[in-house]
Amino acid sequence: MAFEGIRRIVVAGGSLAGYSAVSELLAADFSGEIVWVTGEKEGAYSKPALSKEFLQGKSEHSELFLPEIADPRGNLRILRNVKCRSLEAERRIVHLDDGASIEFDGLILCTGATARMPAITRGMEGVLGLRTLEDALAIKAELARRPRIAILGGGLIGCELAASMRSFGFEITLIEGAPMLLGRTFGAVLGDYVRELHERNGVAVLTGATIEALEARDGRVAAARLSDGQVIETDLVLVGAGSAPATGWLEGSGLALSDGVVCDATLASSHPGIYAAGDIARWHNPYYGAEMRVEHWTSASAQGRAAARNLARSGVGSSEAPVAFADVPYFWSDQYGLKLQMVGRHDGHDHIEMQETADRAHPLLTFHRGGQLVAAAGVNASRAVMRYRKQIEDEVKARDRVAEPC
Ligand SMILES: Cc1cc2nc3c(=O)[nH]c(=O)nc-3n(C[C@H](O)[C@H](O)[C@H](O)COP(=O)(O)OP(=O)(O)OC[C@H]3O[C@@H](n4cnc5c(N)ncnc54)[C@H](O)[C@@H]3O)c2cc1C
Repeated sequence: MAFEGIRRIVVAGGSLAGYSAVSELLAADFSGEIVWVTGEKEGAYSKPALSKEFLQGKSEHSELFLPEIADPRGNLRILRNVKCRSLEAERRIVHLDDGASIEFDGLILCTGATARMPAITRGMEGVLGLRTLEDALAIKAELARRPRIAILGGGLIGCELAASMRSFGFEITLIEGAPMLLGRTFGAVLGDYVRELHERNGVAVLTGATIEALEARDGRVAAARLSDGQVIETDLVLVGAGSAPATGWLEGSGLALSDGVVCDATLASSHPGIYAAGDIARWHNPYYGAEMRVEHWTSASAQGRAAARNLARSGVGSSEAPVAFADVPYFWSDQYGLKLQMVGRHDGHDHIEMQETADRAHPLLTFHRGGQLVAAAGVNASRAVMRYRKQIEDEVKARDRVAEPC
């Protein structure tokens, strides 16, 4: 691979996108220096496991970590416990929060996202979000008191928290402002299925419900007051209110930002030599002809690798040009021993088909728009969902003549 004129590459962010980018740079035999500013105390770890096996006590702390990256040339410098404080895109300098500054020829931005904590949830003991290993450890530390738990938000994280906490038999109230759980993610049919699943497993589900205030006793949360006047007594509030791209440190850098780092189809930012990958990247997805930011594990991994390859191709005088990154988004969620999966994007669908499955207990749905398959979702139907992923890719490619993803 090329890398013409690129002597030092900084990778910012020590989770999956950063890990994938660094692995790819090393695999591509980049002979210059790679500086990986991880922002982490330890190595890169699996976030999906945090809300599932790890909280349920089925996996140990040490099992969360991704394999160590081999560094055969000795040209990888890993900076832990340090974060990027700011960026001067024009001058190609990253400033770190320990006072150091690093000049670079190439930069891959992988600083991901942070948990959204609504104003009413801030600054009160017994109210916790979940985004990082530290967050998961803080939640685990609360469990010995066998708390009654109110979960704010019925999205993926909120639902997984509810399922994991029910595995200990705790009393759970799941509070969601929208009319259904996971409706935006999975659509109405699966939204109803997920609600039924939680209720069958003993969760009190309140939809269309807004928490107006949290009430404290002796400085610690004691109740959640809803806007309809209902009061839910609780010992612990867990917040699953979505996430926001971690672009704070890039304000004033000169990069185009808009709900993430704005990128073209090749994951290139508005400045030459600067790419973005993972939860932080808002890129033009050629499969959909639209800008999107995808917060899913497999996309972060594929984008990290693609951004590294495109950075290599972007060198002055390179014989290869950067290649568009086209992706049919995919995610999964594990709840009560069931695997829920979705591929594609169902927004704007005009037709849903229930597909026949051998196991009639679990739904498998396809979503269509203008006669085209645009998404599929199912429960315990991995093979079928993956077949639909391929079909969606093929149909979009045939329709829009999209190039193979890089
Ligand atoms: C609890 C949980 C469960 C999930 N479950 C699933 C699932 O089941 N399926 C699925 O598809 N996806 C799931 N996801 C989403 C998936 O984990 C993310 O899409 C993925 O972690 C994104 O990786 P990333 O590297 O882009 O960003 P992140 O994982 O957010 O990592 C960002 C990294 O950047 C570092 N950083 C932040 N700011 C700075 C800075 N200023 N300087 C240097 N470093 C910085 C952070 O320390 C971190 O290492 C889950 C996420 C969470 C939180």
